[in-house]
Amino acid sequence: MPVKTHQGLWGLPVQQWRRLTQVGFFLLFVFAPIFDLFRLDLNLKHFIIFGMDWTLGLNDFVAGKDTAGQAAKAIFLHAILPLILVGAAVIYVAWKWGRIYCGWLCPHFSIVETINQTLRRAIGKQSLWDKETLPMRNPDGSEIKPDTIWWFGVIPLVIICAITWATVLLTYLLPPAEVYGNLRHGTLTRNQSVFLIAGSIAFFVEFMFARHLFCRYACALGLFQSLAWMANDKAMVIGFKRERAKDCSTCYSACDHVCPMRLNPRNVKRLMFACVQCGQCTDACTQTQSDNPQGNLLEWVNQAHAESEAALNGSTARIIQIKLEKNNSIPINNAKNNGNRDIQNP
Ligand code: SF4
Ligand code: SF4
Repeated sequence: MPVKTHQGLWGLPVQQWRRLTQVGFFLLFVFAPIFDLFRLDLNLKHFIIFGMDWTLGLNDFVAGKDTAGQAAKAIFLHAILPLILVGAAVIYVAWKWGRIYCGWLCPHFSIVETINQTLRRAIGKQSLWDKETLPMRNPDGSEIKPDTIWWFGVIPLVIICAITWATVLLTYLLPPAEVYGNLRHGTLTRNQSVFLIAGSIAFFVEFMFARHLFCRYACALGLFQSLAWMANDKAMVIGFKRERAKDCSTCYSACDHVCPMRLNPRNVKRLMFACVQCGQCTDACTQTQSDNPQGNLLEWVNQAHAESEAALNGSTARIIQIKLEKNNSIPINNAKNNGNRDIQNP
């Protein structure tokens, strides 16, 4: 019997949609500078957007033709207003749907997940900092048996990702034809070589040891999305049907094990600051509860349901957690540490 999963638009499983959007955005990230869709050209000292030069419009002021007022207006129209509009759009989306950009588009998070899954094959953990090894079984019943041979996959993967990121970032700063041309002919300038070597080393360390930490605390885009999301009690959130918590006793805490941000998805919103709305926990629950006529216990909720999740505070959450554990013998992973799990697993 096929294992149930969440279906999205046109009957395609939600996780497949997510993979498609992630691959699509990663390609956009790599090719945007090449096709002049978006880049900052340090040689020209201005942005290029959709093939057009995006300057501050101060040429006439520099030539003495415009007044200071006209120059201020140009700066507002060419720099401040676009920044406000883009910022407002990002904040609005996050306010309503949380860190959906992170979970569905971000090219950094795609790499986080790819490394997580490959590392799990090597050591049975999604992060080097996880204390416990994950169960071999997956929510769909398949198994992944850790094998150290996979280190030969992990290390080259992290190296390739690090070099790719450093190279792509350089093409956001210098003409891509120059960067790729110099790479091909081995004629990189000293500064370009320094940037690529230092960037690759920095990304290697970050991807290997601190990729979750970066998503949680170091990425400004992620942080502002989380803050906007937290400010809206009615925002979309993963809700847990606590009244049916005893059903979890038939499960192996599948939701905890699949979370790529190493959160406990049954926690209340206040303890889920870094949730990226990937939906893997709801999918895992749907699969492990596929024989349960009442269905899954984890589901995205909005409005009033979301408000009740947001209303629970840390101590209420901990009391609920302890009760769940006591009454139902639920295998809730790291139940005592749920409140500070974020801090423990970079
Ligand atoms: S809690 Fe669920 S939706 Fe949020 S990051 Fe973890 S698995 Fe994804
Ligand atoms: S909510 Fe309960 S039943 Fe659903 S995946 Fe998590 S532990 Fe299993």
